[in-house]
Amino acid sequence: MRPVLDETHDSKAQSWVESANDAGSDFPIQNLPFGIFWRRNTGAEARVGVAIGDRILDLDGMQSEGLLAEESVRLAANACAHDSLNPLMALGGEPRRALRRRLHSVLRQDASASDRQAVARHLVAQADVDMLLPAVVGDYTDFYASIFHATNVGKLFRPNHPLLPNYKYIPIGYHGRASSLVPSGTPVRRPSGQTRDGEADPKFGPTKALDYEAELGFFVGAGNWLGETIPIDEAEEHIFGICLVNDWSARDIQAWEYQPLGPFLAKSFATSLSPWVVTMEALAPFRPAAFARAEGDPAPLPYLFSRSERENGGLDLWLEVSLLSVRMREAGIDPVVLGRSNFRDMYWTMAQMLTHHASNGCNLRPGDLLASGTVSGAGKTARGCLLELTSRGKDPVTLPTGEQRKFLEDGDEVILRGFCERDGFRRIGLGSCRGTILPASVT
Ligand code: CA
Repeated sequence: MRPVLDETHDSKAQSWVESANDAGSDFPIQNLPFGIFWRRNTGAEARVGVAIGDRILDLDGMQSEGLLAEESVRLAANACAHDSLNPLMALGGEPRRALRRRLHSVLRQDASASDRQAVARHLVAQADVDMLLPAVVGDYTDFYASIFHATNVGKLFRPNHPLLPNYKYIPIGYHGRASSLVPSGTPVRRPSGQTRDGEADPKFGPTKALDYEAELGFFVGAGNWLGETIPIDEAEEHIFGICLVNDWSARDIQAWEYQPLGPFLAKSFATSLSPWVVTMEALAPFRPAAFARAEGDPAPLPYLFSRSERENGGLDLWLEVSLLSVRMREAGIDPVVLGRSNFRDMYWTMAQMLTHHASNGCNLRPGDLLASGTVSGAGKTARGCLLELTSRGKDPVTLPTGEQRKFLEDGDEVILRGFCERDGFRRIGLGSCRGTILPASVT
């Protein structure tokens, strides 16, 4: 089942929280993403909040004052009295949708004066908080679902047969590392590792090929039991919502270590997440058909295919990567956009990735994170990592200061943004996912 359009998607709806009505706001009343915030310098505990304009609605505060006491929202409201979204994620879709409708009604311009007054007491300025990871992530899995990314990268290593024979049949993925997931804004230390230059002896030292990967992440809501599977048409009901993911990668370490078992230390040193989780409900207006396979491509095997998935399984979401170097920052120059791609160009949908993951009976648990893999498109401007953009360093990019980049330098800040827009609907955004590179530790 896929979320349907209802009054919470009405593009004309405005909020009495004025900043939510700014055309450029990622968080209008039609969005209402969930996150975990901590009021800076107050000693207060981490809480569940919902972003509205430049504010956060404190759901624990709302619940304590009896503002979420109706039968329909009590279950979801109780699940919000925690310092992670896992309990809310575990409830599945219906309680979450009821909470969304209630929050929408009390934040609308035409909410009653008493509701407005009571709710206003639980608004916190986003400028006054730190955002934490939205969930306690038990397991993190990274896919490889962009055929453009897979082809571009494949060409660098295997010019004659860039795409391996399994690609069009299997949503390729690997098990990532959950312990090193960090929220946006956390600095990322340049990792050291083993590399090998040509036939020379392998060496250990700081990576010289540090890269970003612009990805979309999605959180498991209600899970499945060990030994059970998730049918394709039920898959989306097991997805809570999405965030931005930067899967930092050390390409020189990766090239030496990845055979035969795949990426290991080249990826596990840090993965950054944006803090707001945009729910599947908020995304309902932006669901195009799934990626159209080229003539002659195999149809997905039956367990990965459904008519509904083909007709509405895509997601029209723009991802944008920008870079800000130290010299740009010092000169007051804005971050430069390096890539802009759209998630509707992915070969595999979120539902197909999730169904495939559980197809062997592997249990997925609330709060598990699945990421799409680098989101790239057909053109040169739609490449989601430097490995592709610079052809493994052969074709460096030039920054506005005249500096060149094959890969990331110390002090570089990478900023991911994501948003959905469509005629007749209010634009919604995911906020940003940022990280700045720190020099390698001296060992
Ligand atoms: Ca990746």
